[in-house]
Amino acid sequence: MTTMTDLETPEARDVRRLADGLDIRTRAWIDGAYVDAASGETFPRINPATGIEIARVAAGDAEDVDRAVRGARAAFESGVWAHAAPAKRKKVLVRLARLMEEHADELALLETLDMGKPIRDSHRVDVPLATQCIAYYGEAVDKVYDEVAPTDRSAVVMVLREPLGVVGAVVPWNFPLMMASWKIGPALATGNSVVLKPAEQSPLTALRLAELAAEAGLPDGVLQVVPGFGETAGQAIGRHPDVDMITFTGSTEVGKLFLRYSGESNMKRVALECGGKSPHVVLPDADLDAAATAIAWGVFYNQGEVCNAGSRLLVHEDVREPLLERVVKVSERIRPGDPLDPKTRMGAIVDETQLGRVLGYIESGQQEGARLHLGGNQVLEDSGGYFVEPTIFDAVSNEMTIAREEIFGPVLSTIGFTDEEDALRIANDSVYGLAAAVWTKDVSKAHRYARALRAGVVWVNTFDAGDITSPFGGFKQSGFGRDKSIHALDKFTDLKAVWINVGS
Ligand code: NAP
Ligand code: MG
Repeated sequence: MTTMTDLETPEARDVRRLADGLDIRTRAWIDGAYVDAASGETFPRINPATGIEIARVAAGDAEDVDRAVRGARAAFESGVWAHAAPAKRKKVLVRLARLMEEHADELALLETLDMGKPIRDSHRVDVPLATQCIAYYGEAVDKVYDEVAPTDRSAVVMVLREPLGVVGAVVPWNFPLMMASWKIGPALATGNSVVLKPAEQSPLTALRLAELAAEAGLPDGVLQVVPGFGETAGQAIGRHPDVDMITFTGSTEVGKLFLRYSGESNMKRVALECGGKSPHVVLPDADLDAAATAIAWGVFYNQGEVCNAGSRLLVHEDVREPLLERVVKVSERIRPGDPLDPKTRMGAIVDETQLGRVLGYIESGQQEGARLHLGGNQVLEDSGGYFVEPTIFDAVSNEMTIAREEIFGPVLSTIGFTDEEDALRIANDSVYGLAAAVWTKDVSKAHRYARALRAGVVWVNTFDAGDITSPFGGFKQSGFGRDKSIHALDKFTDLKAVWINVGS
């Protein structure tokens, strides 16, 4: 049998040596210390590239969540963080960003071993963007002003932003450190305490991040990390009577559960980022080379495990063939390989369950009559890991399952159109509305499409562009509330109006 280790390049061997020397944190982080789950239970972390267990992690459940929430509440009420001078909170968060930078290699390795993405991406994308995010919200702390309402002169009305209290953050496995940072950054910047539950598939970077935050000077209890399962730890956070808000990224199905948990407990605020089925609309005058590159990377990057993946390609029949030819050419260069090899551009699917889901969708595409145009197979099976090659379907109709459901794998569905109004209708015919793109050289058309597409982000002649300054989140069942940008601060605060009568 050929294993990944037999296939590895010298560069991959160097990275593997570093990985072997890692000290992996495996216990929950509560009140400034690593602790076992109250039950003593653990769950295995499997490296998706090899199928081999790399660690056993504390399986927190309701009891651990309750302990974490109590600690987070005590820290909040003490004012040690919530009432700290903004300059102080800034200093701590900026220091945390610096520590993340100093530990970038370690964080990148943990991410890759845990969830299978290429080390190149962990290094160039996940860790730097997570670091920038923490730094951005740290820097923002002492630059946001409260307001004075424009009343008549008999009163002074201060409009103050106050932190909510204890924020529960429940995050997925596709960008573990980055998603944690998108939640923690603005929640901590505004003075809240946070109880974070990473996904069962990817708890390792979050557990290390908590320790780095303590080293940066974050007071005990302000950031708690409880690894564990969604149905136990996740649900316990969602239903906890003393959690003031949930910030969630993951599936729409679980997003809806959090709304229910809230309604059945304390009406905690809920912000949801729930994925999508993002369309590219390619008009006949598009720059086909640029579009092809963006389309291939837009759905195959991160093994297709991206909430805003451009998984539906709506293309005008006049350019369908030349465009597909170009997309295939780019896709053929994106081959799955050893995630620890710095040259690898596509890694492993996160786990066996997700592998089964992706292969199931590929099968359903064929059964429902779509034409398999590229790929369609599990590959590198001898590695023991879970790899799927870039897969393109043609002749898809928007009614097929592969055009309607979020696959979260490297599968592109191509839908031809001849009428441009039809293209808009098809693009918007989805329960999701996270992102969309339009490709055209006609400025008026681009603008009209940008307005008409029902999505939280619309890209024109590009895909997946963005930085921390630009808000991110969905319309429709892609959720509500925005991550990133200064606007993300709003959802972690409530407004208080203080009306001071100053006489006539
Ligand atoms: P998921 O179930 O929505 O998981 C997201 C987070 O919610 C995880 O921390 C998960 O914990 C937690 N969770 C799961 N069930 C829960 C429950 N009953 N109560 C409270 N919390 C719960 O996503 P998944 O299972 O990892 O993936 C399933 C599908 O969701 C994917 O195929 C994809 O379509 C979609 N997805 C979307 C995104 C996105 O960014 N939009 C991200 C991931 C997945 P556990 O990890 O312990 O289950
Ligand atoms: Mg899950």
